[in-house]
Amino acid sequence: MSDMKKCANDFIFDRVIGEGSFSTVFLGVEVHRSYEVAIKVCEKALIRREKKENAIFREKTCLHMLTINPSPFFIQLLCTFQDETRLFFVMNYAKNGELLSLINERQVFNDHCCRFYSAEILLALEHMHRLGIVHRDLKPENILLNDKLHIQVSDFGSALLMKETNNENNDRLSPNSDDQNNVRRRNSFVGTAHYVSPEMLTNKTITSNSDLWAFGCILYQMVCGSTPFRAANEYLIFQKIIKLEFEFPQEFDKTASNLIKKILKIDANDRLGSSDDVKNDGYISIKSDPYFKALSDDWSLHEKKPPVSETYFSNNSRNDTNITSINENIEPGLAENQITRIMGLALHEDYDKVDSNTKKGILDITEVELNERLNQQKEHNMYHRFVENNLILKEGFIDKKKGLFARRRMFLLTTGPHLYYVDSSNMVLKGQIPFSKNMRPEAKNFRNFFIHTPNRSYILEDISNNAPEWCRVVEEVRDMTFGPPIAEENSTGVVGKDVCRRKISVNNKYR
Ligand code: ATP
Repeated sequence: MSDMKKCANDFIFDRVIGEGSFSTVFLGVEVHRSYEVAIKVCEKALIRREKKENAIFREKTCLHMLTINPSPFFIQLLCTFQDETRLFFVMNYAKNGELLSLINERQVFNDHCCRFYSAEILLALEHMHRLGIVHRDLKPENILLNDKLHIQVSDFGSALLMKETNNENNDRLSPNSDDQNNVRRRNSFVGTAHYVSPEMLTNKTITSNSDLWAFGCILYQMVCGSTPFRAANEYLIFQKIIKLEFEFPQEFDKTASNLIKKILKIDANDRLGSSDDVKNDGYISIKSDPYFKALSDDWSLHEKKPPVSETYFSNNSRNDTNITSINENIEPGLAENQITRIMGLALHEDYDKVDSNTKKGILDITEVELNERLNQQKEHNMYHRFVENNLILKEGFIDKKKGLFARRRMFLLTTGPHLYYVDSSNMVLKGQIPFSKNMRPEAKNFRNFFIHTPNRSYILEDISNNAPEWCRVVEEVRDMTFGPPIAEENSTGVVGKDVCRRKISVNNKYR
């Protein structure tokens, strides 16, 4: 890694290719257009606010270790740098997206694919466990595909660096003491519900065996298209995991199900592979399982062509995005003008999406109806507790953008009127956009809109492509509360306006 001399101006930022919780990932090209890169950009203020410093540090350390100890099955970190407000990770670009998309192509993802990709994942596990890295968030979304459709494991934000322990039963990797404390303290699970191991949920020591559990879940998903532990919500998924409650569909490949049963064991030390001397022999017990017999002990997989049909490859490969397709006039760096250009492109892409309507007269509610709806809301709407006993008129998830980043919030337009927004992952009210006569919604296209208030413009993205509808409804509620803007005073029926004002004041009694 030539870490020290690079800066944002050494790269041309073409477009956004992915967004994480704390990052935006850009497709870029080195300024002399000699190679393509993926550049992950994290805003320092957000990292600090969300206390993600350790995660970022771990990610950098792991990627660095995997770069100086290269394996074809990992994303390589080419360099890192920072400016005053942002951290930049420049990585090789995995052109073919996430393994998940390939798995979901059930016509394409056949038995050969299952065996081939599970074998590549196993080799990746061997490599990182030898280096003392436990991934802890292994899932098909974090396994990317390079230009030749081989895997490249990414996202080490939840990883743990382990030290070797010698206990009488076992030679396993266990967390070093700082990380161990960290694991205990934040028993809140790390990872993704469907792939999280029982020990992560029950505060037991996490070792490299936790990744073996995720491997078992991914193999199951590759064979039949869905994950082994499925339920309506995370809590129920966790219950199933800790009770090992899963079953195989009838047509499930028998050799695969036999292997999965040997891996998905509650006790991490009972899992197949858990007693292997990984450093010297790799995951020998898993590799010699009958499921992998068809590989005939030839594990030089990165030299082979993945068994994905040519048709899929030519229809889906992102190999068409290459250095020459990047506009010649783009200036290097990621200053305000480049961000505006990139965001502008993103807005443009969504322009021809469809709209649907909420019914007009949203405030046209009688007192009886209001009471009935409020009672229903109290009983059935989990967001009722945030809205100060107002009636929710419209609700929906909206991405609220700030700087480069977006946060998904549940927006609640209520009588009052109010426009609350809630962090639904943590069930916390984050704020409200203040209603006033001078607020002005503005739809940019079907997905993106602004709400301008005297003090601030909110940049919003309606994930269900109904931005104009949100604007219309907010305008309607504004006008019915404060009267229409002067120029339109006569176009709205005075009677209607008065009725609505009365109705809102009726509702205010409930506050
Ligand atoms: P979270 O932080 O919420 O766990 P994440 O870790 O997936 O999300 P990032 O690592 O920032 O977030 O990646 C966001 C997306 O960008 C990924 O899902 C992936 O699709 C894409 N991406 C990341 N790195 C690369 C890469 N090297 N090549 C191609 N695409 C990438």
